[in-house]
Amino acid sequence: MIKGNYPLGLFKDRRTPFYFYDTTLLQQTIEEVKRQIADRPSWQVHYAVKANANPDILRIIADAGLGADCVSGGEVSAALAAGFRPESIVFAGVGKRDDEIQLGLDAGIGRFNVESTAEMMVISELALAAGRRAPVSIRVNPDVGAHTHANITTGLAENKFGIHHSVLPEAIALAQRLPGLDFRGLHFHIGSQILDMSDFVSLCNRINECTEKLELMGIRLQDINVGGGLGIDYEHPNHLPVADFRSYFDVFKRHLDCKCPVHFEPGRSIVAPCGTLISRVLYVKDGLHKQFAILDASMTELLRPALYHAWHRIENLSSDGPEEKYDVVGPVCESSDVFGKGVVLNRCSRGDFIALRSAGAYGESMASRYNCRPLPESLLL
Ligand SMILES: *Cc1c(COP(=O)(O)O)cnc(C)c1O
Repeated sequence: MIKGNYPLGLFKDRRTPFYFYDTTLLQQTIEEVKRQIADRPSWQVHYAVKANANPDILRIIADAGLGADCVSGGEVSAALAAGFRPESIVFAGVGKRDDEIQLGLDAGIGRFNVESTAEMMVISELALAAGRRAPVSIRVNPDVGAHTHANITTGLAENKFGIHHSVLPEAIALAQRLPGLDFRGLHFHIGSQILDMSDFVSLCNRINECTEKLELMGIRLQDINVGGGLGIDYEHPNHLPVADFRSYFDVFKRHLDCKCPVHFEPGRSIVAPCGTLISRVLYVKDGLHKQFAILDASMTELLRPALYHAWHRIENLSSDGPEEKYDVVGPVCESSDVFGKGVVLNRCSRGDFIALRSAGAYGESMASRYNCRPLPESLLL
């Protein structure tokens, strides 16, 4: 079995579990993003902070010149603290609290992506009271499905996100009328871990329909934000560690009619490959028809398998012994605290280092203190 290359010597004296981040891979990934849009100077990439808000990771991404896509006031604060320029911060979310909106106004963030007319009225009022006009884009519910897990589709009419595309003109008219708002453009986001490029083509087609209709009505857009969602190859982290940004950006270069600047919000595709959850085997236990490898890592460090049956490649970094099958589980008192069933690993013994691969996105950022467990630490190299 080909495994990732890890500095086991550095792991020896650390308390497990912890997140290990390969910053060289992170830098390579960011460079690839920049290379693929180098021929489109007006295009902008806002990293989706919710994928991983580790302060050191955020700083690397901010230093590389990307913007930040935030979905809470806490994320706006984290982005500002990491050095993202306020103008490069965009703020989405169906339920922004007044104090979160206020924070964005005070900081002078670049855009509020508004998701309802009720929210527009509140932002307008707060902006007026602060003597400002809030730059807003309208998040459109494009009613476009994505071939991904139901829990991570966001662009269907049944999802809670955005304003349905059929009532967009009325929503824009309101945004243009409200004195505290400065209407700028449209925002879309159809889901996550999308590997079928035809989903993004469908999104482009819907965007083209919208922009054509708006153009006929004389409504000009300053820019269009197409959201994030590009998936990564969880099965082969050693083979193709950088997501397929070429195919992704090509879709928008070829299928979007609008010549206005395009904004992107990748999260997972930027940070997932560079992160690994490093754990140790606590016990190997025989079940009736199987054996369990019980790790010191659990769903409180990496929730994705329990939350939506996500699959992570698992490797025993300490052993070259014969391959055996294990149910790899954590110690938390939930039957869903399972990382994988029937996983083939080199024979496990107490103390072996186990790598849960491609865990840089929605891993550390979803960690919880359930069972009074401590939050995981991180090591960047
Ligand atoms: C979560 C989210 C993203 C990032 O999605 P990825 O699948 O991680 O690329 C982008 N935009 C918005 C509005 C989001 O909520």
